[in-house]
Amino acid sequence: MKRSTVGPEIERLIQLLARLPGLGPRSARRAALHLMKRRESLLEPLARATAEAAAAVKVCSACGNVDTCDPCSICADPGRDAATLVVVEDVGDLWALERAGATRGRYHVLGGTLSPLDGIGPDDLNIAGLVARVAGGGIEEVVLAVNATVEGQTTAHYITDQLAGTAARVTRLAHGVPVGGELDYLDDGTLAAAMRSRTPF
Ligand SMILES: [Zn+2]
Repeated sequence: MKRSTVGPEIERLIQLLARLPGLGPRSARRAALHLMKRRESLLEPLARATAEAAAAVKVCSACGNVDTCDPCSICADPGRDAATLVVVEDVGDLWALERAGATRGRYHVLGGTLSPLDGIGPDDLNIAGLVARVAGGGIEEVVLAVNATVEGQTTAHYITDQLAGTAARVTRLAHGVPVGGELDYLDDGTLAAAMRSRTPF
């Protein structure tokens, strides 16, 4: 084993930083050094914020969102449209839709996608919770805002089957030309999907 040139506390910090998405061992070392050089202005506030978040974070028992209250602030907001349920794979997708101001509906976070090759089946996702919510009534539209990947579309088909027979209308996001996009630069799959899902002008 390679001998460490820093103390165990710093080594531990680097190892934990290296587990963050987008950071490898090299960038983790760089980030740790950056933090330690800014001990008062960055490292200590970050340590406090991390401890406070760790103590406060809760997963919403209704939708699976992450917040500091349960039900989460979106589920608890009476101004949200309770008849529209937007299904997303992960909380990051929920945040993206919120940033875009894309919906006034409420959400349901699946916690991933069906992926038989990785051993992820329906029981590993929050699908039973979704079916129960829709069966409980009051939901007119379920929007499947899943990724345009094979796994995302497999998951969408599975959920559509599970919701067959309920009163809710199941819709999905349009696939097509991105805002500001040029046709010549699109991949073939996107262009073909955009042609299939064309709308009246
Ligand atoms: Zn919630």
